[in-house]
Amino acid sequence: MVERFDISLNTPAGRLTTAIDVPTGLIPITAIVPVTRRLGEEAAQLEAQQAIEAGQTISCRMGCAACCRMLVPLSPPEAFSLRDYVGQLPTDRRTLLLTRLSETRDRLKEANLWGQLNGVAEASKPIPDEALDPINRAYYALRIPCPYLENEMCSIYEARPAACRELLVTSPAELCQDLVENPVRPLPVSMRIGSILGLVWGTLTNSPPRLIPLPMALEWAERHVAASRQTWPGSSLLDQVLDNMWRFLSQAFQKK
Ligand code: SF4
Repeated sequence: MVERFDISLNTPAGRLTTAIDVPTGLIPITAIVPVTRRLGEEAAQLEAQQAIEAGQTISCRMGCAACCRMLVPLSPPEAFSLRDYVGQLPTDRRTLLLTRLSETRDRLKEANLWGQLNGVAEASKPIPDEALDPINRAYYALRIPCPYLENEMCSIYEARPAACRELLVTSPAELCQDLVENPVRPLPVSMRIGSILGLVWGTLTNSPPRLIPLPMALEWAERHVAASRQTWPGSSLLDQVLDNMWRFLSQAFQKK
């Protein structure tokens, strides 16, 4: 059983009006992830439309995966969703992904980054951007393709993290070959869905908001799987998501 909610959100790129279905009764956090991501994608669509109407071009195309060498952060609810997604794949696909993840772990260990990334995933308090920045840079310097990348295409497209869905650029695609040194122009993101889901999870579990580096998301989710089995009323989870979206949107308007 699902309940339909009409949603209307004022974003800096226009009004987002849509209807979403949320399961009634008690649901796990993973059940709210798809609708939350959908709202984020619809907000991003408004930004893209506004940019196109202003004469800009969105350079992102299928087969271009230059940004898939960056460190992708994802929220605990997304990590649990990814674990579920990978868990239901046919054995050969799952084995292939797990092998790639293991190779990525080895490379990160060689570069002395694995421990630092684990520290980020398990931090007992929020990590300031100044502390994360050198880790992000060191990771990007390795240019490790995302373990989920295959032939320059995302092999988990429908399950990819919100952070991957949010990065759209209006600068020429060739500039994305070096996202740190080149003047890449990303579209503004008014609602960071990963952060929103992270805040909701932090409130529900009385834990600090955290973002987990993608290469270790499955391991993190496995370690914390018991927490993922808790359930809450679907409408209450939606309320928390919307509350956090409004906070992000009001900050986005203030920055304008
Ligand atoms: S999950 Fe997919 S879209 Fe995101 S970085 Fe990996 S390959 Fe790219």
